[in-house]
Amino acid sequence: MTIDGKTAQAPRVLPSPSAEARSHLFGDRTADAYRKALALGVDAVASRVTDVRGPFTGISPDALAPEIEQVDLDRPLGDSAAALAELERLYLRDAVYFHHPRYLAHLNCPVVVPALLGEAVLSAVNSSLDTWDQSAGATLIERRLIDWTAGRIGFGLDADGIFTSGGTQSNLHALVLAREEAFARAGARSSEARQALLPRLRVLASGAAHFSVRKSAKMLGLPMEAVVSVDTTADRRMDVTALRREVDRLRAEGLTVMAVVATAGTTDFGSIDPLAAVADVCEAVGAWLHVDAAYGCGLLVSPTRRHLLEGVERADSVTVDFHKSFFQPVSSSALVVRDSRMMAHATYYADYLNPARMAERRIPNQVDKSLQTTRRFDALKLWMTLRVMGADGVGVLFDEVLDLAVAAHEMLADDPRFEVVGRSQLSTVVFRYRPSEEHAHLADDANLHAREALATSGEGMVAGTRVDGRHFLKFTLLNPRTTPGDIAYVIDLLAGHAEQFVEAATAAGAARDGV
Ligand SMILES: *Cc1c(COP(=O)(O)O)cnc(C)c1O
Repeated sequence: MTIDGKTAQAPRVLPSPSAEARSHLFGDRTADAYRKALALGVDAVASRVTDVRGPFTGISPDALAPEIEQVDLDRPLGDSAAALAELERLYLRDAVYFHHPRYLAHLNCPVVVPALLGEAVLSAVNSSLDTWDQSAGATLIERRLIDWTAGRIGFGLDADGIFTSGGTQSNLHALVLAREEAFARAGARSSEARQALLPRLRVLASGAAHFSVRKSAKMLGLPMEAVVSVDTTADRRMDVTALRREVDRLRAEGLTVMAVVATAGTTDFGSIDPLAAVADVCEAVGAWLHVDAAYGCGLLVSPTRRHLLEGVERADSVTVDFHKSFFQPVSSSALVVRDSRMMAHATYYADYLNPARMAERRIPNQVDKSLQTTRRFDALKLWMTLRVMGADGVGVLFDEVLDLAVAAHEMLADDPRFEVVGRSQLSTVVFRYRPSEEHAHLADDANLHAREALATSGEGMVAGTRVDGRHFLKFTLLNPRTTPGDIAYVIDLLAGHAEQFVEAATAAGAARDGV
């Protein structure tokens, strides 16, 4: 071999530490090692999911922490099999398993296998969706999925959007755009004009909206009082009369309604704000309407309940969390906007990455629209899901959990040991154990205890929340494999733990009083 006419020396054999490290680099020379390592991992997880007896072993942080502390991170094990065996003990054995039918706690779904296939592919190829020259087809696939989602929402051809890390980021992004649009509409271009308007911006959301709305407002420099809580009706949906009243009041005070956030599926109650009526109010005053459908987005593909989202097509922006109701692995979310021009409110051009001349040449650089720069090709998981099982397949599964929630609600409503709150339009059920009249004062503690005792037993997991200051229990049903029998079983366990608590507290009280 010659370089510049001189004979190059034959490469020296590299010392082994480097050769050893290189053997772990993903590439053409290690394709076989890659195949084997991943097969080991898949095998370990597959064996584990077949074996788990409950959603959780109930291990405490105090019991697990020392095991993880003891690992010497400066002394590697050298091979995948050994590291996996260790991981089995440190993580897999005691993980919380969402595929288990008695996991009834938070908004975590069991995932579909086509999405896991997508996950394996996307992390190995490791495309980064900031620019075309780091992603190629991945960018076009993401764009197709945004268009597809926009179509399901009922937006026109002008729609656009971007995949994000989750509903929190999607909501933040929506409010960034709404804030910038409020500045633009007020002609506030100079720094002084923006500073003058900023404290006068208001965001309206119901009291049942997600906390990320308040968090976003704070990050956007809005004042503490910027998020105005709109009353809900008894069914926990935004009261449109109250909304109209608040909007009028704010405007009379000379304040600017930057956005109204309607929730399509509140995290606690699964309630859906009256989207069309809220859109009417927004339209009348020219306010940005953001619909947070992080949870309710599964209705976009529901064969029987799509009508619950009627009016969503009138939103300016919509949050969808595919990792909540499309059975996708975390992370998979998107923000979709009706008017593609709005995305420009978050556009910056960097010479090294996405110079403006590229936009002029229509080179698709997704970083022009995203709050992130380096970004995972999460869209591939949804793509594989749609290509293998189709949107109807996802919708049928979501419908099943909605039916299950109806059954669970009826079971609890018929059970004298419990009281149930409202009726969810989605798949949550909020309820509490109700002790006898004389022990009514123990109700809060009995419910808190029941939830914890159930988790510690490893038999099941439920969530908790507060309603009007009282402690309640909550099912969030997202697993189509959960049966009414599983629900009945968990209800009995909860009642048993609560009863035991009341008995113990009563006995302790009697002993103290010397009875
Ligand atoms: C879960 C949820 C969010 C936050 O989404 P993440 O993906 O957890 O960031 C926002 N809004 C609603 C209504 C949610 O249920």
